[in-house]
Amino acid sequence: MGHDLRAALSISGINAGVFPRKSMKNITQEPIYLHDYQVPDYLIDTIDLTFELNEEYTRVKSLLNVMANPLATRQDRHLILHGEALELISIALNNKPLNAEQYEIKNDKLHIFSVPDEFTLEIHTLIKPQENTALSGLYKSCGNFCTQCEAHGFRRMTYFLDRPDVMARFTTTIIADEAKYPVLLSNGNLISIEKSEDGKQRVKWADPFKKPCYLFALVGGDLDSVEDYFITQSGRQVTLRIYVEKGNRDKTAHAMEAVKKAMRWDEEVFGREYDLDIYMIVAVSDFNMGAMENKGLNIFNTQYILANPETATDVDFIHVESVIAHEYFHNWTGNRITCRDWFQLSLKEGLTIFRDQSFTADTTSKTVARIQDVKDLRQSQFPEDAGPLAHPVRPESVIEINNFYTATVYNKGAEVIRMQQTILGQDAFRKGMDLYFDRHDGQAVTIEDFVKAMEDASGIDLTQFRLWYSQAGTPVLKIKDEYDAKTGNYTLHIEQTCTETPGQPHKKPFHIPVKMGLLDQQGKELLHDLLHIKNAKEVFHFKNLPSKPVPSLLRHFSAPVKVQYPYTNAELQLLMQHDTDLFNRWEAGQQYALNVMLKMIQDVHDNKPLHVPGEYISALNHLLLTMQHDKWLLAEMLMLPTEKYIAEYMTVVDVDAIHHVREVLATEIAKQLKPHFLTLYEEHHDVTAPYVFNIHEVGKRQLKNTCLFYLMLLNDETIPLGLKQFELALKTNMTDTMAALATLNNIDAPERDMALNVFYEQWKNDPLIVDKWFALQASSKLPNTLKQVKKLLHHSAFDIKNPNKVYALIGSFCNRNLHCFHTPDGEGYAFLKDCVLQLDKINPQIAARMVKPLSEWRRYDVGRQHLMHEVLEQIAQSKNISKDVFEIVTKSLKKQEIIA
Ligand SMILES: [Zn+2]
Repeated sequence: MGHDLRAALSISGINAGVFPRKSMKNITQEPIYLHDYQVPDYLIDTIDLTFELNEEYTRVKSLLNVMANPLATRQDRHLILHGEALELISIALNNKPLNAEQYEIKNDKLHIFSVPDEFTLEIHTLIKPQENTALSGLYKSCGNFCTQCEAHGFRRMTYFLDRPDVMARFTTTIIADEAKYPVLLSNGNLISIEKSEDGKQRVKWADPFKKPCYLFALVGGDLDSVEDYFITQSGRQVTLRIYVEKGNRDKTAHAMEAVKKAMRWDEEVFGREYDLDIYMIVAVSDFNMGAMENKGLNIFNTQYILANPETATDVDFIHVESVIAHEYFHNWTGNRITCRDWFQLSLKEGLTIFRDQSFTADTTSKTVARIQDVKDLRQSQFPEDAGPLAHPVRPESVIEINNFYTATVYNKGAEVIRMQQTILGQDAFRKGMDLYFDRHDGQAVTIEDFVKAMEDASGIDLTQFRLWYSQAGTPVLKIKDEYDAKTGNYTLHIEQTCTETPGQPHKKPFHIPVKMGLLDQQGKELLHDLLHIKNAKEVFHFKNLPSKPVPSLLRHFSAPVKVQYPYTNAELQLLMQHDTDLFNRWEAGQQYALNVMLKMIQDVHDNKPLHVPGEYISALNHLLLTMQHDKWLLAEMLMLPTEKYIAEYMTVVDVDAIHHVREVLATEIAKQLKPHFLTLYEEHHDVTAPYVFNIHEVGKRQLKNTCLFYLMLLNDETIPLGLKQFELALKTNMTDTMAALATLNNIDAPERDMALNVFYEQWKNDPLIVDKWFALQASSKLPNTLKQVKKLLHHSAFDIKNPNKVYALIGSFCNRNLHCFHTPDGEGYAFLKDCVLQLDKINPQIAARMVKPLSEWRRYDVGRQHLMHEVLEQIAQSKNISKDVFEIVTKSLKKQEIIA
């Protein structure tokens, strides 16, 4: 799945108000363990499905060809099928109906007592998609039927061996009223369309590739579509079709181009070609994740398909491309080669995130793309690694697998792939990928199989490297150096540590690849190298250096670690200006800003007056004068680290001081550099130019809007500037509209309300833009924000059943508005608790995702700790919470003591 960490985290699947079931709901909250894995007792060779879509219910007929698994060594085989929220109509084995004594349904499992080694099984079930608010299995979104089967959605349609190592050949027939549901889609190639006199249509699809059931998909609805084609490197023509809800065809051009770009890139960079005659994408409004890679029929959240200049920002345009690439790349890394079990989730997700990151780096800006990867990792994964929910990239036990669609499995998983590429080198890594594809095509495999392919192709021993998959926690590199002026010898001492994480008190040293370089005092590069840190302590010697060099460490962020090196501000400024590694120029600037702010926070604590060092401002001034050739990077370098990132560097997070200090620093920058910002703004603000999406234009807009951000901190004198941009861009350019509105959003002035109202009136019929409107108000720094958010919960455009709306309003406030969420009275926590309990009854996956900010309670002062702990307890003690929320909450509460 392509999940969107920028919006939110993780997913689940217990039924919530879905359907009265014959078997009583009985949540088993015991974890399952990786080490308990056993091959399935039975395999399913083919599955022939028939879905009859009606308004009141959907009838599902499933005909399975089942056989005993020759690899299963257990003496007493059991045929136990998964099924949830199903009404069973009938079962027949080899065409003979089973009576009630021949099977049992208990705890979401169907146990058939006595079966031969090879047989057919025909199962009829009834489901109610229109009542499925959990959005897992078959459900309705805006009147259209669609499915989401990963991880355990398929079992909510029919009884099946719902595990990824059972791979079957699927044939699917869909029967529905043609007038209401003219479009009927499933995986693979279209076989036939029949129409009957009662107005029903019968459409049959067959997927020639074996696949696990989590890759199954079905769509039935009245949708618009656009079509194009792609010629593969071997000369085959593939039909490309994008389906959208009525009226959205004019927002699909960018997505279609992105599909073609991704297909070409995967051929050129990894030699992978598409394998079916048709590739379809369907965009739906109600979707738990970003998108899903079902074989030949990807289903997307509309957020990652619909984009045109009037309605989407630069960032939206980039996200559409990267999510489309992600799902397309899964066809090889995920579908052709899939996971043996869900503990191996990172096998497909870490690898595919790495592939989509590489695609974005190649097609936009290599440096800015990397900066974005690292920001995502630091914002989402580092806190996870430091808290009670920390788990290895390959978890060893889970209660609800949907809780493991995490930043660790996805983003840290991608870093672990990237490190293998760094250690092996580009060529050997490509050979390893080729070997992996050759060796395992058509199989369900493990992370170990992947690493083994890398080892076999390169001859490099990755034994120690494998610890990245089994040990949780973010390693810290403490680096010291010394220089001997007499001999010219320079020495780096590197010490690695990794703190305790749940269940892992002691860590073995990791194999950490550290790209580095040395600069002389004028900023000239003296050398560069790749250091392999394998022991707890390592020493590296460099000879014949004319003077003490400045080290540039962890270039391009070559490992997901924290580096501690006592840089002076002068050294950071030198790196900002001269490092040949552009990522590290940005990193030095971030480090410098962080140092300045941490010092200021200390001053707040000591009741000293705040002082912004002049050298820091002149370092930025220098950037403005010298970096204009790379406008996008310059814009990134001008931005201060986020409040969340600053919090990472504090033992006890002081949200108020962080917020205050960051505001003071930003305002001081704005005051002192105002003339530059004004000039740059005027130079790059061309209101007559039509919106074009390319790196150059994105860079210009990002720089201009960064200048606007600073200028608008000067309030009174610059409000007209932001207002003017907002008014001019409102109907034509969403990037400029949102940039202006975001700055007005933090100002307590009548212009703010006016602009928000105008924006809503202009765009109230576009749900994705209304999401932006909700998100913006939820992220306002103004003190009455929580009150506003509560009010917006009752707004006619808000719908708690729609995940995008929940992320936009509740998620933006609780997850990203640190300052307003953590008010000392605990109002924000109580608000989140109420939302989580309400959501849990509707959609447990989303509820479990929303509750996560509370898991970090130990990071705050005693007062806030108590308040957060209290609401966690209240959630834990509520009746009938889903196992999704149960797992997150109980893990968060685990160690009961409050740390003073
Ligand atoms: Zn994915």
